[in-house]
Amino acid sequence: MKPVWKPDPRIGALLGRALDLIFPPHALDGASTPQTPGLSADAWGRLRFIAEPMCDGCGAPFEYAMAERCTACIASPRAFARARSAVIYDDASRDLILQFKHADRTDLARLFAGWINRAADDLLAEADLIAPVPLHPSRLLSRRYNQAAEIARPLSRRRGLTYLPDALRRRKASESQAGKSASGRRRNVAGAFVVSDRARPRIEGRRILLIDDVLTTGATAEACAKALLKAGAAAVDLAAVARVRDAVELTI
Ligand SMILES: [Zn+2]
Repeated sequence: MKPVWKPDPRIGALLGRALDLIFPPHALDGASTPQTPGLSADAWGRLRFIAEPMCDGCGAPFEYAMAERCTACIASPRAFARARSAVIYDDASRDLILQFKHADRTDLARLFAGWINRAADDLLAEADLIAPVPLHPSRLLSRRYNQAAEIARPLSRRRGLTYLPDALRRRKASESQAGKSASGRRRNVAGAFVVSDRARPRIEGRRILLIDDVLTTGATAEACAKALLKAGAAAVDLAAVARVRDAVELTI
């Protein structure tokens, strides 16, 4: 049988992203600042963007189109309905995200918002409002900004969606999730988030898109989604800048 050449949909997505690099999209506020600040061609080339085919649940990339959802999503449905991430969390993206989190590179926020704008387009289209995963006030004090909020704010402006920075409150200063096992992470953030009384009427019956920087085991997103659903949210989706490669690593 004669092989039929079909364009790989990932090529189109990659081309679109390459065009963004050459002709950086401009901010909606009319400023002429390009959204690819300080990103060298080399750094760009090493990033691994996630495109179809992927799991409709957790957004894990598939090698080839197989099922709607990965086995992990089917085996253990999560409190959040769907998750999308822009890039694989690896050396290249970790480097950028660490600069953003710890080296005051808040200028990267709009770049990340642009990535999520593409990667979570379907989730954004259905969302009623956007909320960031909160930091505990003590950590906010030492870091001076919540990285998730820095991304969520320009993203909500870009999509004309209501932005609720204080929908969730972190009531206990949980330890860092770094170096913990999946069950350790789950215990660490269990009950850590509550919906503020002020935000409650605004989230009731709404579909909420949670924003975070990195999706690792999903324990934090799960704890946030549970708190929002308990407070009456209709559904919770999640969008992150980067995620671990395999769905098996994403064990709630
Ligand atoms: Zn999945």
